Amino acid sequence: MTVRTRVAPSPTGDPHVGTAYVALFNYCFARKHGGQFILRIEDTDQVRSSAESEAAILNALRWVGLTWDEGPDVGGASGPYRQSERTALYQAHAQELLDAGHAFRCFLTEEELAALRAEHQATGRRTALDSPYAALTRAESDALVAEGRPFVIRMRVPREGTCTIQDGLRGTIEIPWDQVDLQVLLKSDGFPTYHLANVVDDHHMGITHVMRGEEWISSAPKHQLLYQYFGWEMPALIHLPLLRNPDKSKLSKRKNPTSILYYERMGFLPEALLNYLGRMAWSMPDESEKFDLATMVEHFDLDRISLGGPVFDVDKLSWLNGKWIREDLSDEALAARIGEWAFQPDRVRALIPLLRPRLDRLSDAVGIGGFFFQGLLDVTAEQLAHKVLTPDQVRQALTWTSWALDAERAWERPAIEAVLRGMSARLELKLRDFLAPFFIAIAGRPSATPLFETMAILGRDLTRARLRQAVDALGGVSGKEEKRWRKEFDAGAEAAAEE
Ligand code: GLU
Repeated sequence: MTVRTRVAPSPTGDPHVGTAYVALFNYCFARKHGGQFILRIEDTDQVRSSAESEAAILNALRWVGLTWDEGPDVGGASGPYRQSERTALYQAHAQELLDAGHAFRCFLTEEELAALRAEHQATGRRTALDSPYAALTRAESDALVAEGRPFVIRMRVPREGTCTIQDGLRGTIEIPWDQVDLQVLLKSDGFPTYHLANVVDDHHMGITHVMRGEEWISSAPKHQLLYQYFGWEMPALIHLPLLRNPDKSKLSKRKNPTSILYYERMGFLPEALLNYLGRMAWSMPDESEKFDLATMVEHFDLDRISLGGPVFDVDKLSWLNGKWIREDLSDEALAARIGEWAFQPDRVRALIPLLRPRLDRLSDAVGIGGFFFQGLLDVTAEQLAHKVLTPDQVRQALTWTSWALDAERAWERPAIEAVLRGMSARLELKLRDFLAPFFIAIAGRPSATPLFETMAILGRDLTRARLRQAVDALGGVSGKEEKRWRKEFDAGAEAAAEE
């Protein structure tokens, strides 16, 4: 058997360090066993997927130093490798399940489903929802189709007993069937859900080992059942422990930068980031901290994966990165690295319209634009002191705006401007007063290049990190306060959406 593994990111946002972590482990396992590693794009969520996100994910994975044998960019015998280009295949398989009686058409409308859910919740039961349409005969179901009633295709799931899953790291996992949804496989628009597409693709792409985050364990019963329905052999399942914030909660961008773009921008070396990700849940036989990809492949062994939640700690990553910089690069190599990092043509080019009107001498570019190249600015409470606003108002303005920016999908000047203007109105602060602390937080001084454009160029994660650093300089936000603020923030956002 040739080992075939895959990483299957959904292109719905910035490239996540968790994706690189999962990709790395799949890569090492495949390489170690002389097999193949595949990259598949799971863009079944038509609304949230974007070509930009896909490109950014591929670039980021390449940047950390991973390569794949098959994928949307390199092709391969099992393509296409983008799920949106495989719709007919999923439809045919959904039809097969329907014809075999393993799936049924469900004609519940959104409203009926919501009502059913509410009713179900009120009973306090923790079991999965049932559909009244599961009991229809095929003829009855066909008649509703003939009437033109829209439907989804759901899989049938046993309502009694326990599903037993074998996990390569955890052994036997038991999940009661009555907690497993009658999963939608095909949506009313004919597009598949993740579950159907994932199983169909893993089978047709000859995947032998599925290594993915532990958040997918609860999906395993559905997947296993689908393999049985189709009569296919199921790949081995290996659920990797989730990356965690230093406080042990699930790694989240609200507490830690999660985008690979951020780490690139901050001047982390790709080999150090990859090395650090290799230390998440895995260790070298000699426990050495610094190792390269080839060494990890050579020693890779599932037995060395530990399930204790691996903490992604930026301070530790910085320490390791420093070791790589100081110990592994010659003077020439380091000089070249700094040059490549700082003077990426696209990035420097983007600054020019902001710098040009302000330059008398070329050297002015450093004074005016130097903050674009820095990491965190370490601004102080004194710098953030405001003529009109209290420190608490400043803290609130920065925090709420950061949340509002997180909810914004596009990271572009007009969207950023709209969020900041909207927030100043919402907090009933004059725009000038409201923006002043943002100049300090983002650029480190009261006047700088135009703010919205500057934030757009700095990028989402570095902007968020600088805003957070400023909030921290003012004392941070306590857990209690965050809860209270979140409530008010969400209530206001809902009110605005209804207008
Ligand atoms: N598209 C899923 C994700 O984004 C893949 C999960 C899996 O590997 O099965 O994580």
